[in-house]
Amino acid sequence: MSIHSNSPSVNARYTAIRDTIDRQIRKIDIPKDNLGRPLLVSEYFACNTFGVSEIKNALPEADFDQFEKTIKEGARLEKPLADKIAKTVRTWAAEKGISHFCHWFQPMTGTTAEKHDSFLTFEDGKPIEKFSGSQLIQSEPDASSFPSGGMRATFEARGYTVWDPSSPMFIMESTNGRTLCIPSAFISYTGHALDEKTPLLRSVEALNKSATKLLHTLGDTDVGRVNATLGAEQEYFLIDRAFFVLRPDLLMTGRTLLGAQSPKSHELDDHYFGSIPSRVTAFMQEVEYELYKLGVPAKTRHNEVAPGQFEIAPIFEDVNVGSDHNHLIMDMLSKVARRHDMALLLHEKPFAQINGSGKHNNWSMGTDTGINLLEPGQTPQNNLRFLVMLTTVLKAVNKHSGLMRASIANPGNDHRLGGNEAPPAIISVFLGAELTNVLDKLEAGEKIDNAERAMIDLNVSRVPLAAKDNTDRNRTSPFAFTGNKFEFRAVGGSASCSFPMTCVNAAVAEAMEEVNAKLQEKFAAGGDKEAATLEVVRELIKESKRVRFEGNNYGDDWIKEAESRGLPHLKNTPEALSALATPEAKKLFSDLKILDDAEQESRLNIAYENYNRKIEIETDTMLKLLDMYVYPAATSYLADMATAVEKIKGVGANSTPQEAFVKKLANMIADLDKASEAFAAELSAAKKETDEIKRAKLLAEKVLPKMEATRELSDQIEDKMGDAYWPLPKYREMLFMK
Ligand code: ADP
Ligand code: MG
Repeated sequence: MSIHSNSPSVNARYTAIRDTIDRQIRKIDIPKDNLGRPLLVSEYFACNTFGVSEIKNALPEADFDQFEKTIKEGARLEKPLADKIAKTVRTWAAEKGISHFCHWFQPMTGTTAEKHDSFLTFEDGKPIEKFSGSQLIQSEPDASSFPSGGMRATFEARGYTVWDPSSPMFIMESTNGRTLCIPSAFISYTGHALDEKTPLLRSVEALNKSATKLLHTLGDTDVGRVNATLGAEQEYFLIDRAFFVLRPDLLMTGRTLLGAQSPKSHELDDHYFGSIPSRVTAFMQEVEYELYKLGVPAKTRHNEVAPGQFEIAPIFEDVNVGSDHNHLIMDMLSKVARRHDMALLLHEKPFAQINGSGKHNNWSMGTDTGINLLEPGQTPQNNLRFLVMLTTVLKAVNKHSGLMRASIANPGNDHRLGGNEAPPAIISVFLGAELTNVLDKLEAGEKIDNAERAMIDLNVSRVPLAAKDNTDRNRTSPFAFTGNKFEFRAVGGSASCSFPMTCVNAAVAEAMEEVNAKLQEKFAAGGDKEAATLEVVRELIKESKRVRFEGNNYGDDWIKEAESRGLPHLKNTPEALSALATPEAKKLFSDLKILDDAEQESRLNIAYENYNRKIEIETDTMLKLLDMYVYPAATSYLADMATAVEKIKGVGANSTPQEAFVKKLANMIADLDKASEAFAAELSAAKKETDEIKRAKLLAEKVLPKMEATRELSDQIEDKMGDAYWPLPKYREMLFMK
């Protein structure tokens, strides 16, 4: 027996380790000014984008006014004006050396899609670059290969991408050329949404309408528009690419399906906010440089809790742009990682037993008069408005917590939620001690005669109402108030922000309609408006009380308590998705014209299909890993050990430990075989089920536990194996090599 295995796959693993040790840090050149100083970010920020302000600069005033009207009021963009805009875009594109353009959209695959077209055309036999208004506004990709959830029969494959002028166009640079990307919505021939952006845009409009109305009722009559805002904190893992390509599970599924724990994971908490490894800093700097050119306001970077885990967060923006920008962030992280010989893992749980990745969606609402509606005010009047907004959000979350749970459901997040690292699968709201105190007092308060007096008594008129410092933070809450915004923390690392944000916008818009009606009714009865408003606030507090939870969301007590409060506890994706189909959810979406019945149905179908296909890719990959890696490796180790026993005996030495080991390992392999047989049997039973909903349940409830049990046995074998026999890069190698 040789000390080092002759197995080519084990050698590949050792070569990968060698490769990671030899890596040089990649350098890039930031553009310099005439004096040779690197440009400041503000000097090149958004240089590769073309948005409303660039269009404004390029158009005569009357034309721009007309264009603005189409954005603000949804008026039709007439062809002559569209042609003019297209011409300015083409001129700019020519200066930038762009050869192609594409409509960039978000089909319901969770990622973005693009189909490139060249500006090249022929006039009188001569090649020229051209770009028409209709090419800018609309394109017709073959929609048949994108998910439509049965809404659009494949023979009617027409789908259209339609320019979304509220999100700036941008240049995607690659090694050998540049492409102009035009953010677009994707709709079917019948006008049904086939993407993530369309419902988001509709929810933004619904929220704008309801919020403006409510503000006018409250006396803020100068407000003309309200927009939801989003700042999405993106967590991610980086591992060396040499390891990544040796792991079929990472390549196929984005997570490790096997892998024994390394003795150290994050018990020491020495990674969080620790000094960033130089190679990763260089990576982050290049990502940020690329993002700045695209107008993505990257703001913070740091290590996250797990080894190999990091975070990037932007400055918040309007939710539609913020969501597009999060897609760009994910895309850029992945592309730049490749340049640094690293692989990006956005999966919610790439490594078992180690913290996974989320994407905190910081959400608020801002007016065109510059007010953040969730900012506690300086005056009693402003605080009253704040209390109305706050309690309206509580009402919304209380009514639609199941839907919000559904909005963040995906197979990856199932591993993360409730895993003592992320909120449980129950949506509740954390407000902090101070606000809780205020609401409790308001709730208990006797009849309130004098609103201003009452506010002072409650200490509401003196700011800060809610402590903004981090000490008053409850990191375990799925939906936490953090000073002047809510943080929807349950969103998964790989998810698009669009649908979770659509659901929050929709739920709040609906609640605002009801609150507005209540207020108007009370105001119509006469009497003091402030007192009447406080009365409504008090009703909202009572109505939504069950959804508020200040304690530890990770505790088992909370699950019991939440269930006794009647809060939905939807443990896995198939369960959670059912919340998309409740009468309340359907009514919410159809009343607000965000999704009609056909669109909702299709979304549900797609979600179940996605779940099933993803889980089946995992299960199939896992079985292959066992056959192609684990059994051969374990068996060859076993055979060598058995031969060793014979040889030891042959020289008359004591072979007891080796014999015992051979027996033990043989038994472990037999156990694994039995477990994997049971797993495979359960899987083929599930695959016979053709109803996708039933199949999803079988996969979640019957197959996954068996897969988990199988994995455990495989990981135990890995732990017993001679290192020189194990072909798959190990946890310690992937996570701790810098
Ligand atoms: P944390 O302690 O969670 O990192 P930060 O204050 O750094 O909190 O903010 C986190 C994210 O919240 C950032 O992306 C930030 O831009 C965003 N954010 C701040 N204010 C708002 C707001 N009004 N609306 C939406 N997002 C916001
Ligand atoms: Mg946060």
